[in-house]
Amino acid sequence: MVILRGLLLALMAMVALGLSGDATAKGWPTPAAGESASGDIELVLTFDDGPNPTTTPQVLDILKAHKIKAIFFLVGEMADSRDKRIPKILDRMLADGHVIANHTMRHKDLCRVKEDKAVEDLDKGKEAIERATKFELAWLRLPFGVRCDRVDQMLADRKVKHFHWDLDPQEWKHGDTTKTVNYVTKELTRAGGRAVLLLHDIKKVTVEALPQILKWIDEENARREKSRKMKIRILQAPALAAEQLPKGLLPWLADATDGARALPQVLASLLP
Ligand SMILES: [Zn+2]
Repeated sequence: MVILRGLLLALMAMVALGLSGDATAKGWPTPAAGESASGDIELVLTFDDGPNPTTTPQVLDILKAHKIKAIFFLVGEMADSRDKRIPKILDRMLADGHVIANHTMRHKDLCRVKEDKAVEDLDKGKEAIERATKFELAWLRLPFGVRCDRVDQMLADRKVKHFHWDLDPQEWKHGDTTKTVNYVTKELTRAGGRAVLLLHDIKKVTVEALPQILKWIDEENARREKSRKMKIRILQAPALAAEQLPKGLLPWLADATDGARALPQVLASLLP
């Protein structure tokens, strides 16, 4: 009985940490992007695995209509592909003020492939995206959010961090729009601080779910306004980078670089 109870407790702890099924895996700390600075619920939108010539522009259109600046964790072989439509999409991401970041070259599980392949995937991804965009990348997200001693060492050697998430609707796996919208809205209903949302701009389901999620946020905020509850605020990706600047420097920088293309990306490139 005692052993059974111990096993149960261990299992519960593993589930709580999102480690079920792999006892060797280590989780990443949450909240993924620190505490809320405004006191409201702050949502950071992140999109992985792109760019895709069809769906990524659709996601960009939706974000533009809502004046949202997100983070795109790009896959190197997609960003640096021979598809002639891709350079325009990358240009647009930067011009629209989004932050771009590394999601490795071929999207391998860096804890499971051979060590030299893991190193190659991480470094070649960064190089390929930098070559395609002409911007230095500071932020990184590991495929599948894997964590192991090897990955910890690789990140420490390169002085980079893994940018994890808090909300994962798994839309890439089940492809169900309603399920995706329901998961996100339910989580946001009970959220209390800052949350990083993981979505995928290469999936049709994401293109369908995103406007519904944003519409729900607007309606929910109208309801919250009446009852004077905490609002759900979209935290613009560049603001995350700017949080690390000394006070007063950002307005000065914005003035000094008036009209400069992709100031947000420059900021994110400079700051860890
Ligand atoms: Zn991914």
